Amino acid sequence: MDRISVAQPKLAGNERKYVLDCLDTNWISSNGKYITAFEKSFAEFCGVKHAIATNNGTTALHLALVALGLEPGDEVIVPTVTYIATANAVRYCGATPVLVDVCQETMNIDPRDIERKITSRTRGIIPVHLYGHPADMEAVNRVASKHGLWVVEDAAEAHGAEVLGRKVGGLGTCATFSFFGNKIVTTGEGGMVTTNNDELAAKLRLLRGQGMDPQRRYWFPVVGYNYRMTNIQAAIGLAQMEMIDKALSDRGTLANWYNDALAGMQNKILLPRQEPWAKQVYWMYTIFLRYGDGADRDAVMGALDEAGIETRPVFHPMHVLPPYKEDAAYPTADLWAQRGINLPTHQDLTRDDVQRIAASLERALA
Ligand SMILES: *Cc1c(COP(=O)(O)O)cnc(C)c1O
Repeated sequence: MDRISVAQPKLAGNERKYVLDCLDTNWISSNGKYITAFEKSFAEFCGVKHAIATNNGTTALHLALVALGLEPGDEVIVPTVTYIATANAVRYCGATPVLVDVCQETMNIDPRDIERKITSRTRGIIPVHLYGHPADMEAVNRVASKHGLWVVEDAAEAHGAEVLGRKVGGLGTCATFSFFGNKIVTTGEGGMVTTNNDELAAKLRLLRGQGMDPQRRYWFPVVGYNYRMTNIQAAIGLAQMEMIDKALSDRGTLANWYNDALAGMQNKILLPRQEPWAKQVYWMYTIFLRYGDGADRDAVMGALDEAGIETRPVFHPMHVLPPYKEDAAYPTADLWAQRGINLPTHQDLTRDDVQRIAASLERALA
């Protein structure tokens, strides 16, 4: 039987046509019509004024933090369960990621744990919309405005997710996205910063292009970076944006198939939750074992692997990884991250595939 991969890109639209256009016209570097078209289309999709494309999601995060003026000695609040790029970007600025615990239902930042971690050095908060479910932005923004902090949404895993009908990307001071090959929208490697703030957008553009003065060529008023996206990446991205509504509806359908197929196993596993105020976009359909530890989880994943089904463990919390190791307890992350499994989530899965995954999972749980 064919192996089922945990994620794979869907390149079913104009990707090939637009990339060949780049090659045929010689516009292969970081100037060209696809960059502006992709940025415009992404900004419109998110309902924001500005979108600034970068070469990956990690540089998008770093660029945002530099543009916000983050400096050595500063602190930034980060959920302990995330992909490591979130914490690393803070460290690249010489600042300190201050970890907070997560909510069990969504593995997103726990707003109740933020306030007690705020000090005189705290500059901002990076809520992460983990696995496609938006963080509780109302609560995060409430704490942020009370303490005069900026908010950077790490929306790398949540293109199209919504809070109370408003899309992520425009819910904080700015937001960052990733277009890595396994993300909901891909450009191979790529990233984006979105914002409604004109001044911040100008700063992001300046810093992305080595800091060159837009009015004066080869005049560099600041130290910038080369974090530019290529026209070829943007060509793929534009084609992806033409199909994003289908990408999101396919993922919604897949989640419904999983919900049906796994409904009878809920004495053993928790199914992914969608808060009443949220639209979750299922970057990764994620289940949690109700009982057991990391070894039990790994055994289930091993059994699925033997059945030809690739899965992924939920991220190790930052506070157990060597660069960010702490002895402090983060009770929800400590208990639940080790019980989490990302099931295959991509657009080429069929209802039969989901039945096969469910049957294998049932055997693995027995
Ligand atoms: C993928 C991801 C990133 C980084 O994106 P890259 O494009 O791989 O650099 C950052 N944060 C989160 C939460 C991610 O999932």
